[in-house]
Amino acid sequence: MNLFATWSLRLVVCVAGALGQTRPAALESRLSPRPGSSDLAALDVPTPAPSTSPLVPAAKNAAAAPPKPGDQHTGFEFIDTSFENASPLWYEIADDGSIQVHLVYDHERTSPNRAAGHFHFQIQARTGSKLTIEFKNLDNVYNGRLASVANELKTAVVSENGRDWSPLPLEGLPENRVRLTVPMPTSKLFVARVEPYRLSDLDHLLTAIRGNPLVEITPVGKTIEGRELEIVRIGDPKAPYRAFIRARAHPWEAGGNWVVQGLIHRLLKDDADAKRFLGCYCLWVMPMANKDGVARGLTRFNAAGKDLNRDWDRPSDPQLAPENDALEKWLESMITAGRRPHLAMELHNDGSGLLHISRPPIPGLARYLERMAAFEELLRKHTWFTEGSTKDSSGNAATLGEGWLERYGIDAVVHEFNCNWIAGLKDYPTGRRWENYGERLATVLYEYFGTVKP
Ligand SMILES: [Zn+2]
Repeated sequence: MNLFATWSLRLVVCVAGALGQTRPAALESRLSPRPGSSDLAALDVPTPAPSTSPLVPAAKNAAAAPPKPGDQHTGFEFIDTSFENASPLWYEIADDGSIQVHLVYDHERTSPNRAAGHFHFQIQARTGSKLTIEFKNLDNVYNGRLASVANELKTAVVSENGRDWSPLPLEGLPENRVRLTVPMPTSKLFVARVEPYRLSDLDHLLTAIRGNPLVEITPVGKTIEGRELEIVRIGDPKAPYRAFIRARAHPWEAGGNWVVQGLIHRLLKDDADAKRFLGCYCLWVMPMANKDGVARGLTRFNAAGKDLNRDWDRPSDPQLAPENDALEKWLESMITAGRRPHLAMELHNDGSGLLHISRPPIPGLARYLERMAAFEELLRKHTWFTEGSTKDSSGNAATLGEGWLERYGIDAVVHEFNCNWIAGLKDYPTGRRWENYGERLATVLYEYFGTVKP
């Protein structure tokens, strides 16, 4: 069924619900258009096809009427997506009472690529009811090929207050659908793919650390929609080594923000270890590259349809990817000032959690691979990292990791974090666990610079 047919149906069903079970004749005729009837056609709305719909559009009496929001036996009332980072979606109720959630793709410019998979919304339903939610529209196009994200959706998180989250398993269904069964402990429950980290969370962090003499927050540009992009410096810029981290190029991937927050808090702890770390290295961070996508609850691309972890093999486009252009100009100013980073990390979430080590044809590739192997060893030693690294980089050309290595000679690496499971802890990921990873990363960087001396 196409989108417009479903929308028109949902509208009609909701109106019917508001009017009670006895439908006026005029409404009944809209639900069962006569052959040749032109009232819907005049509105350019395709005639629904009842045989393929999960709804029953032409119910003739109350007993056969499909479930709908507000029904006592389902308890379901509404899905609210009116808040920060909520994901765009639409929904309908199937005959079996399940809530069919259709995520909305975001699209890449001049490419067949599209992405859905982020979800963050608030369910409103009767306390004590048990809801079944099915996610649809998971047929992403990735690197030009159809690639459903359904088999990467294994866990969700739920929260009554939007602060304290608990994991819930997702169940794979045929035809790339995914099911979530949610008991309602209260009348309102937030549901998200990973523990959210919103713009307001970042603002809260920056407000808390601004003013610390070890911190400098520098505006470096603006997103497509005019949100300010910042580079946060932690420590002394004259320290012997320099590390750079970028998080949140892809808006659904909140894990990187939790890692960065944990690392920043560790470095600002004002204890002997923090002094040792900051005597060895200075950290620069772009904490949230795709702020527009985070605000709107998108999955992958920026507001102009650009993938911010692509096209790093050439100068950034200031019109279409100002988020990358701002970072590139900042990096070039650092290099001009003699402060080229010794290590750059690009943080992401996926269903695997690997370290992505690029292998572009550069002089010194073998030495770079040795350094990255040492870095991986230290991650295993000091954090719960066990997932391992890529052995070739096919299919992910022109990431920040590859582009910075090739164009600027910077040791750069893309670090994915498994959004479903932490193998090293045998447990679900949470914001707190990712923060803990960031805290331990402070030690990893210290030992890496101290022993490898890049
Ligand atoms: Zn990503």
